[in-house]
Amino acid sequence: MASTDQRAQPAAPPPAPTPAEAGAPLDLRGRTAVVTGAASGIGRACALRLAAAGAEVRLVDRDAEGVRALADGGAGTAVVADLADPEAAEEIGRGADIVLNNAGFQLVCPVEEFPPEEFSRMLRVMVEAPFRTVRAALPHMYRQRWGRIVNVSSVHGRRASPYKSAYVTAKHALEGLSKAVAVEGAARGVTSNCVSPGYVRTPLVEGQLADQAAAHGLDPAEVAERVLLARTPAKRLLEPEEVAEAVAYLCGPAASFVNGTSLTLDGGWSAG
Ligand code: NAD
Repeated sequence: MASTDQRAQPAAPPPAPTPAEAGAPLDLRGRTAVVTGAASGIGRACALRLAAAGAEVRLVDRDAEGVRALADGGAGTAVVADLADPEAAEEIGRGADIVLNNAGFQLVCPVEEFPPEEFSRMLRVMVEAPFRTVRAALPHMYRQRWGRIVNVSSVHGRRASPYKSAYVTAKHALEGLSKAVAVEGAARGVTSNCVSPGYVRTPLVEGQLADQAAAHGLDPAEVAERVLLARTPAKRLLEPEEVAEAVAYLCGPAASFVNGTSLTLDGGWSAG
């Protein structure tokens, strides 16, 4: 391993986009985008958005049926992989121009009862897999002096909620990884950012309604309003397509100076 002072310093930083380039619609023709967790929810919406902008999308998910259906519809190429396997996570990143680290899951359980093996698995899928995918993608991005990494974090990358210890830990770690990649990649044309949504209308949230009802002793019908949206001034769920637009912005030329940041879409939650 080379020490920092042995590394070749980049010559000149990539130029700023011209005003015309910065204002142009997103055009990702000729770019390969890896989208993890593409079979459902946010990943699906993002895959469709990036494909609509012309990207060749690698639709990665362990849900074979889901990604194959999306691929059959013309959104990209299905890649069936379980990201709990670090080698699989590395494999999908090779040669990518854009990486969207999105795959994730939730387990709602008090810390003292939280199964340790589930804690490990959540960190493997939601932190180690993004690290491995980005690690594999960066050499190609650095060679061409262009790359976009977007990590789907959460308002739980900035705030905690009870019974979500592994999820909150993983999202805080993902925010840290994203910033570390940003400072290394900035002078080589690579940006790394997070999008951090509040509650989004996806199967992951629908699954939580029942779990939260059990944990809080509430009727499932009360959970959305009294628990999920209790801290959301906007009092509605976010739609996956709204997250996809934020991702599209971060992949576009107007965002080339946006780096190491976290674009929060939480209806005002974390402002309170
Ligand atoms: P979702 O359950 O609808 O989709 C997640 C996808 O990830 C699924 O298709 C699933 O098969 C895939 N996946 C999970 N584990 C995997 C593994 N080991 N290997 C391969 N694929 C795997 O969930 P979503 O709501 O769309 O969530 C997507 C991301 O957005 C997650 O990282 C989640 O933490 C984050 N997020 C969601 C919300 C929300 O309210 N829904 C809010 C903030 C952040």
